[in-house]
Amino acid sequence: MGTHSPTTPAAAPVTLKEYAERFRLHVHCPACSHEAPLNVMRWARVIGWNAPLETLRHSVRCTECGNNVGVEVRVSERELRDQQR
Ligand SMILES: [Zn+2]
Repeated sequence: MGTHSPTTPAAAPVTLKEYAERFRLHVHCPACSHEAPLNVMRWARVIGWNAPLETLRHSVRCTECGNNVGVEVRVSERELRDQQR
Protein backbone atom coordinates (compact mmCIF):
# COMPACT_ATOMS: atom_id res chain seq x y z
CA MET A 1 0.00 0.00 0.00
CA GLY A 2 1.43 3.42 0.94
CA THR A 3 5.14 3.71 0.68
CA HIS A 4 5.40 5.80 3.81
CA SER A 5 2.86 6.24 6.52
CA PRO A 6 3.09 9.16 8.97
CA THR A 7 3.20 6.95 12.02
CA THR A 8 5.53 4.14 11.22
CA PRO A 9 5.81 2.10 14.38
CA ALA A 10 9.06 0.55 15.47
CA ALA A 11 9.58 -2.94 14.20
CA ALA A 12 7.13 -5.32 15.79
CA PRO A 13 8.63 -7.07 18.77
CA VAL A 14 9.54 -10.68 18.23
CA THR A 15 11.90 -11.86 20.90
CA LEU A 16 11.33 -12.19 24.61
CA LYS A 17 13.73 -9.31 25.14
CA GLU A 18 11.86 -7.00 22.80
CA TYR A 19 8.57 -7.78 24.44
CA ALA A 20 9.95 -7.46 27.94
CA GLU A 21 11.45 -4.08 27.16
CA ARG A 22 8.22 -2.62 25.88
CA PHE A 23 5.34 -4.44 27.46
CA ARG A 24 4.18 -6.19 30.54
CA LEU A 25 3.56 -9.87 30.07
CA HIS A 26 0.97 -11.93 31.86
CA VAL A 27 0.22 -15.60 31.92
CA HIS A 28 -3.39 -16.71 31.91
CA CYS A 29 -4.50 -20.24 32.68
CA PRO A 30 -7.78 -21.39 31.11
CA ALA A 31 -8.09 -24.29 33.54
CA CYS A 32 -8.17 -22.35 36.80
CA SER A 33 -8.40 -18.76 35.56
CA HIS A 34 -5.20 -17.93 37.36
CA GLU A 35 -3.48 -14.89 35.98
CA ALA A 36 -0.02 -13.81 37.01
CA PRO A 37 2.72 -11.56 35.75
CA LEU A 38 5.25 -13.46 33.75
CA ASN A 39 8.54 -13.97 35.51
CA VAL A 40 10.61 -12.60 32.67
CA MET A 41 14.00 -13.05 34.30
CA ARG A 42 13.31 -16.67 34.96
CA TRP A 43 12.17 -17.36 31.43
CA ALA A 44 15.09 -15.51 29.97
CA ARG A 45 17.33 -18.00 31.69
CA VAL A 46 15.29 -20.93 30.40
CA ILE A 47 14.73 -20.04 26.75
CA GLY A 48 17.09 -17.09 26.31
CA TRP A 49 16.40 -13.41 25.68
CA ASN A 50 16.53 -13.87 21.93
CA ALA A 51 14.01 -16.65 21.77
CA PRO A 52 10.81 -15.66 20.02
CA LEU A 53 7.79 -15.16 22.23
CA GLU A 54 6.30 -18.07 20.35
CA THR A 55 8.72 -20.39 22.13
CA LEU A 56 7.54 -19.06 25.43
CA ARG A 57 3.93 -19.70 24.51
CA HIS A 58 4.76 -23.36 24.06
CA SER A 59 6.70 -23.60 27.28
CA VAL A 60 4.72 -21.82 29.97
CA ARG A 61 2.63 -23.62 32.48
CA CYS A 62 0.35 -22.40 35.22
CA THR A 63 2.14 -21.81 38.51
CA GLU A 64 -1.12 -22.35 40.33
CA CYS A 65 -2.40 -25.69 39.05
CA GLY A 66 0.44 -26.90 36.84
CA ASN A 67 -1.69 -26.94 33.71
CA ASN A 68 0.23 -26.41 30.50
CA VAL A 69 -2.57 -26.81 27.99
CA GLY A 70 -3.77 -23.65 26.38
CA VAL A 71 -1.94 -21.38 28.79
CA GLU A 72 -1.93 -17.95 27.26
CA VAL A 73 0.79 -15.35 27.31
CA ARG A 74 -0.90 -11.99 27.30
CA VAL A 75 0.85 -8.87 26.21
CA SER A 76 -0.25 -5.74 27.98
CA GLU A 77 -0.83 -2.88 25.60
CA ARG A 78 0.40 -0.44 28.16
CA GLU A 79 4.04 0.36 27.72
CA LEU A 80 6.37 0.06 30.65
CA ARG A 81 7.05 3.75 31.03
CA ASP A 82 3.37 4.44 31.69
CA GLN A 83 3.47 2.35 34.77
CA GLN A 84 3.64 4.67 37.74
CA ARG A 85 2.56 3.81 41.22
ZN1 LIG B 1 -4.04 -23.00 36.40
